[in-house]
Amino acid sequence: MIILIKKETTPETLTHISDFLIQNGITVEKSENSLCYVWTASGNTTAVDEGQLMAFDGVIEVRKTSSPYPKAAEYSGKVTVGNIVFGEAPVIIAGPCSVESEEQITEIAQMVKKAGATMLRGGAFKPRTSPYSFQGLGKEGIDLLVKAKKKTGLPVVSEITDISQLEYFNDVDIIQVGARNMQNFSLLKELGANTKKPILLKRGMSNTVRELLLSAEYIMKEGNENIILCERGIRTFETATRNTMDISAIPVLKSMTNLPVIADPSHGTGLSSLVTPMSMAAIAAGANGLIIEVHNRPENAVSDGVQALNISEFSNLVTKINKLNNCIIEK
Ligand code: PEP
Ligand code: MN
Repeated sequence: MIILIKKETTPETLTHISDFLIQNGITVEKSENSLCYVWTASGNTTAVDEGQLMAFDGVIEVRKTSSPYPKAAEYSGKVTVGNIVFGEAPVIIAGPCSVESEEQITEIAQMVKKAGATMLRGGAFKPRTSPYSFQGLGKEGIDLLVKAKKKTGLPVVSEITDISQLEYFNDVDIIQVGARNMQNFSLLKELGANTKKPILLKRGMSNTVRELLLSAEYIMKEGNENIILCERGIRTFETATRNTMDISAIPVLKSMTNLPVIADPSHGTGLSSLVTPMSMAAIAAGANGLIIEVHNRPENAVSDGVQALNISEFSNLVTKINKLNNCIIEK
């Protein structure tokens, strides 16, 4: 960390700044140029609040030279689910927004498997904007999803909205933290400390990629390094789509971390007709996989039917993604 301090600063204030750093376990190398004092601080500078330093009289600038998310920045592992490895062939997670019934989730599971999906999704604890909307089947929804997993062999992904639900997720392979909970720091910490299952961390609708990585860091710091990042669209002034799918976030994230990055063009666009082009764009931009909402009868879906692909659309999507991926590999 570099601290720039005005030349006119009194010796008392310089001592205060120095004492503050020492109290925080920081060692300082002091130098100066013709314009200002230049202090180079080393030690656990991540824990030092820049704002607190800026509050000292005379401090002009505090520049951190170490990463604010060291674990996410230095991650060098591989996130795996059984023999599925994120970072190899694109992982295609497909299924309904919500688990609605045994018949619905079983039929969709069988269909998406046949079409080439690698994993099954299905929401049971649904964070809905309106308290009057369908809230999900809860534990029963998880049980039905797990039944579909047993029938098809597809690993499953489902969203958690509160740490008290964790006990129901024993047979769930990936735990999703949705956009609305990306900065639910107590949930992130609990997940980091209490499970080693991969966490699918979705970008909040008004969050930067930096904030997404800091949220990943919350989980990693507590001991769970199995994080999959997900771009799912952000809120902008544009109203033609439900969200603005930030394709550039994919290569940006990949330049900042080796954690896998997947894309959710269903929530990213909110319209089924845009899911295939945005899926292609995401894979071309380097995404390691996709999470796609698919329904056997989109017109009857209890949530997000307008963005759900039917089974033949999903099947065509998988064919296109496989062709595109072959071109990428050949390059
Ligand atoms: C979902 O995946 O069903 C969901 C609610 O996603 P998001 O958190 O991205 O809105
Ligand atoms: Mn949904």
